[in-house]
This record gives sequence, C-alpha cells and structure tokens, in this order.
Amino acid sequence: MRTSKALIFEISRPGRQGYSLPPCDVPAKPLEQILPKSLQRNDEPGLPELSEGEVARHYTELSTRNFGVDTGFYPLGSCTMKYNPKVNEEAAVLPGFAFMHPCQPEETVQGALELLYNMEQGLKELTGMDRFTLQPAAGAHGELTGLMLIQAYHRSRGDDKRNKVLIPLSAHGTNPATVSMAGYEVVQIPCDDRGLVDLEALKAAVDETTSALMLTNPSTLGLFEEDIIEIARAVHEVGGLLYYDGANMNAIMGYIRPGDMGFDVVHLNIHKTLATPHGGGGPGGGPVGVKERLIPFLPIPLIEKNGDHFSFNYDLPGSIGKMHSFYGNFGVVIKAYTYMRMMGAEGLKQASGDAVLNANYLMSLLKKTYYLPYDRYCKHEFVLSARPEKKKGAGAGDIAKALLDRGFHPPTVYFPLIVEEALMIEPTETESKETLEAFAKAMEDIAKDIDANAEKVAHGPYNTVVGRLDEVRAARSPILRWVKE
Ligand SMILES: *Cc1c(COP(=O)(O)O)cnc(C)c1O
Repeated sequence: MRTSKALIFEISRPGRQGYSLPPCDVPAKPLEQILPKSLQRNDEPGLPELSEGEVARHYTELSTRNFGVDTGFYPLGSCTMKYNPKVNEEAAVLPGFAFMHPCQPEETVQGALELLYNMEQGLKELTGMDRFTLQPAAGAHGELTGLMLIQAYHRSRGDDKRNKVLIPLSAHGTNPATVSMAGYEVVQIPCDDRGLVDLEALKAAVDETTSALMLTNPSTLGLFEEDIIEIARAVHEVGGLLYYDGANMNAIMGYIRPGDMGFDVVHLNIHKTLATPHGGGGPGGGPVGVKERLIPFLPIPLIEKNGDHFSFNYDLPGSIGKMHSFYGNFGVVIKAYTYMRMMGAEGLKQASGDAVLNANYLMSLLKKTYYLPYDRYCKHEFVLSARPEKKKGAGAGDIAKALLDRGFHPPTVYFPLIVEEALMIEPTETESKETLEAFAKAMEDIAKDIDANAEKVAHGPYNTVVGRLDEVRAARSPILRWVKE
C-alpha cells in the first residue's frame, strides 16, 4: 500500500517555482500586438506552484502506480505484451534521427529513407507481400487503410456492387468497427465446434456483393485456421479479396506467411509483434502490405531506391491519398526495425516458436484447474472460460482483480465474445518458465479462494492503489479534472 497520494494541486504553495529565467533581453511588445484583447484571459490560470524536485517526485511516484511489461508479467491476450528491448529506444534517440525535421530536403535524409526502405523489404519477406506503406499508426488504422485500398481496387474495375465484408464471429472488435467506418455492411460468419471458421457457412455467404473477408490467422482463440487455402479459394472465386489482420503474427513468424496463405492485403501491429512499447494509447505502427494488383492504390509517398539514392514517389494517380502526416510514426518504425535486424530471420522464427511453446505450457498447467472450451494445441494464446467460477460467485472480471492483488496484470477478459466469461491469455516468448509457473500457481490459488469464499474474491482487489472501481460510472461520468473539495 502506498501512502503518498497527494495531488499536484494539493502540494502547491503560492510563489514556489521550478525555474528561474534571466531578465528578458529583447524589447517586449505590448500584449495587444501579439494577441487580440478578446483572446486574452482576465484571471490567472491557477496552475500549481512547485519546485522542480517536488514535480520530479510527484511524477515519479505516479509512474510507480502504473503496471507495465517492465514491472511484471502482462499476459493480455491479443495484445502481445512482450518485453521491449531497450536497445530499440537507444536507436530511436540517436541524434541523427531524433533531431531530423520531416520537411528536410530528400538529400539530407538519405539515411532515414534507407531505413524506411529496408524496413519495407523486411516486412515483405516476413509476410510474402509485394509492397508496404508504413503510414498507419496502429492496427485499426491499418484496417481502415486496407479496406480503402480494397474499395479503390474494386471501383477501379467498375465493380461497385460489393458492399459487404465478411468477418468471423471470433474477430477482434476493431474489425467490424472498421468495416462500418469504411461504409461497408458487416456479415458475420459463425465458428464451428472446432472454434474455426465454419467453411460451409462461409461458402453460403460469399457472392458478387462480397468485397472482402477479414481474417486473423491464428484466430483470437489462438487457433490456426487450417482450412485457410479453401477459405481463400471460396472468397477469390466470387471476386472478393482477403484481408489479413496481422495482430497475431507473433505466432507464425518464419513458419508461414499471409502472402502464401492467399491474403491480398495485410496489416501488422509492429508495436505488438516487433517489440515497440504500447498501451495507454501511446504511438504504434500498423504498416499495410499488398499484393501486386493493389500497389497502384497505396498511400503516397512510396519510398523508391535508385542505385544508392532513395527518394519519395508521389506519382501514384490511383492512390487513396495520405493516411498519416508525413511518413507515419517514424520513431516507432526505427524501434521495430532495430528489433527486426537484431533478431534476424532465425531469431524471429525462434521468437514465434517460443511464444507458441510458452502458451501451450501455460495452457497445460491451467487446464488442470480451469475450463478450456477449445481443448487443442494452441498457437500464441488460448482462451479459458470462468463460467464454472462465475456460478460459484466470482467470474472472469473478479479473477482479473484477484490477479492484480498478486502482482500480475490480468489476461484479456470477456473477449472473444464466443466464449462465456472468457479469460484470454497470451504469455509471449519473453517470459521464463518460473514466471509462467508462478502465474499458474496464482491462478490455482484464486480458484481455491473462490471455493472458500467467492464473495470476498468478488469484492477485490485489496492491495492496489485504488480498490474496486465503479466501471460504469467511470465510463459514463468520468471526472477528468481536479476539483477543489
Ligand atoms: C490489437 C488488435 C487489433 C487492433 O490493433 P491496434 O493496434 O490496437 O489498433 C486488431 N485485431 C487484433 C486481433 C488485435 O489483437
């Protein structure tokens, strides 16, 4: 338990300062000449007044209230919270990169262009696609980019009846959201009792109004869609395209490529798979790769290599335009590129192999205690159901809180929707056997606690900075500013 919970406004004292500036040595202009009277404020802004040391302590203390991969195990399914090597950060802050301006002339940023170009080559090799844009800032942004590319492709062929996108029931929530944002109708495809796409239902659903199928493989259940070749054939036969949600690439790197499974467009979440920090809405990267026939529609500019010279190519008349200012989150691309080069092809393959091994080991430990609805070998993650525990009085959400009390970040809960009381667990490759066993032990202890006193578990957590929150009130009427009591 931490005791210091003072807010920065409460430790403020009038007149206290964290800086001292020399006297102004340029002639001061009258305020009216800088800002019209109507825009000037009449009273002081009421900012807290503190010394630099107090500010440093305040924010350092706040940072310790957060949970991150650098503080503990973080098996948040679907999010691939692997350890992010610090060397990635060092590369991104090299002065040549960090102090560059995006408007600098091409000749003065050749190194940066080379990095972007090489990143694209690496992603092509990893996925089996023909070209990439690095602009999208996250997976969901990549999805929108991808669907816009697919739309542009169909329209360029005068094929404008295609108003539907098919999505399996196990899909991530961003998929249907992106589909409606792109102006399409969502058609849901059920899963069969293996937890995989129901092939017959898919075949019945495709027709000349199908624009695309969006699929992640392995699925959010952590299961590999083994009928993928037949799925691809069914969609292609009616003139539709295949979109690959690459958020689960960490399961298959170096083993199989979406480009070889029949996908026409892919996005990668480099903040997941290629180890750049994410969470809290921080910057990410969602590069989108396409097969040859979709290249003419990619966002501008593309990066071209001519001999030893790199340049921007804006000459793409069919382009969907820009999806991000300048060239995307360049700093994130540097980190992911560093990781990719450091690991090499063999290293990435081993990362995926280890991620799958870790997930299967943890699954085998946990299924002794918890119900595993789809009991087959998994890829990088697996989904338990806390339905039996819920009947005793404490469900998936309560187990999540109990894990917080034991120093673990909880798994993803209540998703995917096709599993009741879902606990979606993705340990990643960067965790040791001891950590996996400690987590399994914590989960077993929680199951015992539920048997002994479910009511108590249902009111946790007890050891965290804040206790059980009113989640509905926090979402509906959040208090976002400090208000003096
Ligand atoms: C994370 C995730 C997304 C969305 O990616 P963001 O980078 O969070 O926008 C889409 N699909 C799946 C399966 C994911 O796990």
